[in-house]
Amino acid sequence: MIKYTSEYATGLDGSDPLSAFRKKFSVKDEHVIYLDGNSLGRLTNGVSEILQACTEKEWGDRLIRSWNEGWYTKTTELGDKIALLAGASPGEMIVSDSTSVNLYKLVVSALSHNAGRKKIITDDLNFPSDIYILQGIVETLGEDYELVVLHSEDGISPDLNILENALDENTALLTLSHVVFKSSFCYPMKEVTAMAHNKGALMLWDLSHSIGAVPGELTLSNADLAVGCTYKYLNGGPGAPAFLYIRKNLQHSLISPIWGWFGQDKPFDFKLDYHPANGIKRFLAGTPPLISLVPLERSLDILLEAGMEPLRQKSIKLGEYLLCLADEVLIPLGFKIASPLDPERRGSHISLRHAEAYRICKALMDDQIGSFVLIPDFREPDNIRLGLTPAYTSFTDIYHAVKELEEIVSKGIFKKFTGDKEEVT
Ligand SMILES: *Cc1c(COP(=O)(O)O)cnc(C)c1O
Repeated sequence: MIKYTSEYATGLDGSDPLSAFRKKFSVKDEHVIYLDGNSLGRLTNGVSEILQACTEKEWGDRLIRSWNEGWYTKTTELGDKIALLAGASPGEMIVSDSTSVNLYKLVVSALSHNAGRKKIITDDLNFPSDIYILQGIVETLGEDYELVVLHSEDGISPDLNILENALDENTALLTLSHVVFKSSFCYPMKEVTAMAHNKGALMLWDLSHSIGAVPGELTLSNADLAVGCTYKYLNGGPGAPAFLYIRKNLQHSLISPIWGWFGQDKPFDFKLDYHPANGIKRFLAGTPPLISLVPLERSLDILLEAGMEPLRQKSIKLGEYLLCLADEVLIPLGFKIASPLDPERRGSHISLRHAEAYRICKALMDDQIGSFVLIPDFREPDNIRLGLTPAYTSFTDIYHAVKELEEIVSKGIFKKFTGDKEEVT
């Protein structure tokens, strides 16, 4: 097949309008094929210098004066930039805490806003941490509150009719992952938000697996609330703080359940009664982790320069190329596609299922085997996720990845590995 040649892949890279963006990221070894940017995005070039300036100059020399020289406004400045990637407006987002904690803050405040209603709806395609947070909230609030976790038959896609029918007059909140972490299913944001609103429920999207790869449509959908991660396609670095979004005209009627001084109207008045700040800042709690926060800006600027629409177009092309090679080469070796085939309904990673998925992943990552090291990730029970990050993944990466997968499975090389699991997979 002509498409399964390195010349063909090189040709696709040659006509890729975003190909130059790869150089903005740290790619030290072209023999390491990194397809896990949906779990931890690559390091952006220049970040070491930014961190050095932050520690040596801002912290070392300027000391506490730095709070008035740019630190204090970082959470909203970065939020404004993420808002543009998510189809929201400046003033509707802040960077703070982790995704899990932000979800907690927004869900609790949404429930007290929609106080007559007692039901939260989500589904079992959602990320486990999100479901734990919801379980914990229902447990804490007690009695009347109820969490409904809808079931997906095939573990890949939801049934939107079942979803629509589950919404009722008692539903306070519908919360879903925009792109599902395992299968990559991408919800039609506008349609689903409208379903929730038709029944008077608030809609909260978790954008962790879409932000930076799939354009958000928060304003277009009239979505109420959103949270998301910055260390995946936004390349903020391990444990970089997350973001949260509240629709502008809803902000004044929501109160964070965590009344910290950074969310207070005038924290430096040190008055003893809490008055929430105007706008989105009321959802800040404590002092933001500045050193973990600064790497994000460089990457956001790069993504804004590339533009969400071109990034999405490239992501789709990468996915179509991978699926085309998988069809030809990997399906005959026992792989199954566990992601939607319709690019409109798919995010930016593709899941392959194989009975030996875990041992195959170990063989792929072993630097003694094959001519390349391929880093995907494994998700229970038998998923190999291949993350395609449009800002830096090349078509040549995909060609080499399929070659490695073919080699390791067709020659049975994975059999040299045990199935013992590492702590982090
Ligand atoms: C990655 C991810 C998270 C991670 O949450 P943290 O609190 O930042 O660890 C949460 N939700 C979804 C959907 C994710 O993909």
